[in-house]
Amino acid sequence: MTPSPNMPLVKTISERCRVCYTCIRECPAKAIRVAEGQAHVLDERCIGCGNCVRVCSQNAKRVLTNINQVRMLLGGQTPVAAVIAPSFPAEFAGMDHATLVGMIRTLGFDYVNEVAFGADLVAGRYRKLLDGSADRRYIATTCPAIIRFVERYHPEMVDQLAPVVSPMVATARALKRLHGDGLRIVFIGPCIAKKAEAASNSLNDDVDVAITFAELRVMLLKEGVDPSTVQASAFDPPHGGLGRVFAINGGMLQTAGVAEDLLTGHVVTAEGRSSFPQAIRAFENGDLDSRLLEVLCCNGCIMGAGVTNEDGYFARRNRVSQYARQQAEALDADRWRAAMTDMADLDLNRRFVANDQRLAMPSREQITRILQDMGKQRAEDELNCGACGYDTCLEHAIAIHKGLAETDMCLPNTIERIKATMTELTSTNRELAETREQLIQSEKLASMGQLAAGIAHEVNNPLSVVLMYTHLLLEDESLDEKLREDLRMVVDQAGRCRKIVGGLLDFARQNKVVRQPTDVRETVDHALRMLSHPDNVCVSVRHDLDDPIAEIDRDQIIQVLTNLFTNAFAAMTEAGGTLTVRTGDDGAAVRIEVSDTGPGIPSDILGKIFDPFFTTKQIGKGTGLGLAVTYGIVKMHRGDIAVTTNTNPGVGPTGATFAVTLPRIEGDV
Ligand code: ADP
Repeated sequence: MTPSPNMPLVKTISERCRVCYTCIRECPAKAIRVAEGQAHVLDERCIGCGNCVRVCSQNAKRVLTNINQVRMLLGGQTPVAAVIAPSFPAEFAGMDHATLVGMIRTLGFDYVNEVAFGADLVAGRYRKLLDGSADRRYIATTCPAIIRFVERYHPEMVDQLAPVVSPMVATARALKRLHGDGLRIVFIGPCIAKKAEAASNSLNDDVDVAITFAELRVMLLKEGVDPSTVQASAFDPPHGGLGRVFAINGGMLQTAGVAEDLLTGHVVTAEGRSSFPQAIRAFENGDLDSRLLEVLCCNGCIMGAGVTNEDGYFARRNRVSQYARQQAEALDADRWRAAMTDMADLDLNRRFVANDQRLAMPSREQITRILQDMGKQRAEDELNCGACGYDTCLEHAIAIHKGLAETDMCLPNTIERIKATMTELTSTNRELAETREQLIQSEKLASMGQLAAGIAHEVNNPLSVVLMYTHLLLEDESLDEKLREDLRMVVDQAGRCRKIVGGLLDFARQNKVVRQPTDVRETVDHALRMLSHPDNVCVSVRHDLDDPIAEIDRDQIIQVLTNLFTNAFAAMTEAGGTLTVRTGDDGAAVRIEVSDTGPGIPSDILGKIFDPFFTTKQIGKGTGLGLAVTYGIVKMHRGDIAVTTNTNPGVGPTGATFAVTLPRIEGDV
């Protein structure tokens, strides 16, 4: 009947866990492992305190339920006793204890007893322990979570656990002596760890099943037990005495008649998730030299995780004290003493078994490496913000080494990484958009190039014939002047057509780049010399090349420069200005910048200037192929061309700058 000790006390419901790490913060045993973003309770490390259950706002922690085992016991032939923990007034506010006993009886229990009697017996044993040899020092063992904590994390101290059973087990043994060994015992209390104690191999099936007040409520609800119609009833004997205050911290000492003396420090109490581990550590290393350390994992059993009542600590404590006081007043002292005497020889001894769950600590180098992985290079990077559930970055790093935590749990580091990824993403997006633009432009140019090559080829030959015959006709001296004039017009216009066809051929030819080591400085100077510049434009050249040699197609780059210079001069013909040419390099690439002080390029046409046949010049002045050809040549060199411009004199000097970047050798950017 005893549930397997291997069944996990607490499990995480993955779908509900929102990975807030609160359970990690509250777990005194560090028994929660975060793996792949989920917080899992490790049963072998869990001490059953239920802190994680209490603090989980998502109800993502499920406690082992034993209701079915209780039902099976109640359905069997053997008598069953319910033993109720002294903290019950903390749970059942506003309910008379006799009503509660009546309700529990309605579920089918043959006896309903108070664990307070067992607490009285246990308190007597503690009194004896303290009266015994003064060299022995003990940790009280009334709290099962504390026992599990010592067995797992202070195994060397197992012998210092007071060798006394808990009030629950003492009650069970007393009842079995009274009603026979066949009596089945169900403990009902505020504690999850009691389930593990009931199932413990180191006890002799004293208690069959332990359930929480929460489970008792479920049973009462399912059975439809109505407090208003139930027959009130008293607890079965033997009745408890002072043991009713065991559920409050210090209650065991008061029952045993031992005071926590601040002067001698012989007896010290500690409770709560941060105090008790400190107290046990101090007790172990000698900083605390008390003879008895009474430690409770919760703030007294009244605050146990199996309590559903949401009242605060003092309200719960008040109800327990009040009930204990009332019962003490009504206590039949003679009967109580007689019952205690009857049980004086009851075996209340217990031994504990070490179950070392300590994990190896990392070396200083390992910690440094883990902290670096978390983006903590310097001491000031360790924010100790506690968002990961560990109090310090160091504790988090140690937990990572032990396989209990993940680097990703560090919130500040995760935020930094998200920011970096966002920046990277934005820049990748921008690059993608630029590449897409260039691709569209290249595709446009490629199809235009094919078309242009076709047209140029077809038109060039007849055009040559027209020009040749027109020139032949012009050689005839007898022609009258009017006709001669017309023929000259034919030559002019045919010449213009030839220029366009030439442009088309250049445009179509761009895909053949013949790279030669070329002096960029000389190429720029040569291209400038080839063009006569308007009188009202001055030219300024600034070479700033560490290495002027680049592997480029000199003729094609001269064509690029000629186009850019021609456009710049055209932009400045009316008002004059300055053409500035700058060269520069950075090892892998050379840069040529052509700037003018013209009116600039309006934003509405900026996106079209590289399109073939786009021109704003008058008919006969421009073909709209200059920049398309330029763009094609630069791209065939695996280079780049960018334009910056200002048309608003209010913001600064107007003008346009074309910046051409070419890889110094093929394949370099
Ligand atoms: P075209 O010079 O035959 O018009 P381009 O392809 O060389 O053909 O130029 C296309 C258009 O780009 C020009 O008509 C002009 O509107 C604009 N443009 C080019 N360079 C400049 C510049 N430096 N300043 C102002 N506009 C320019």
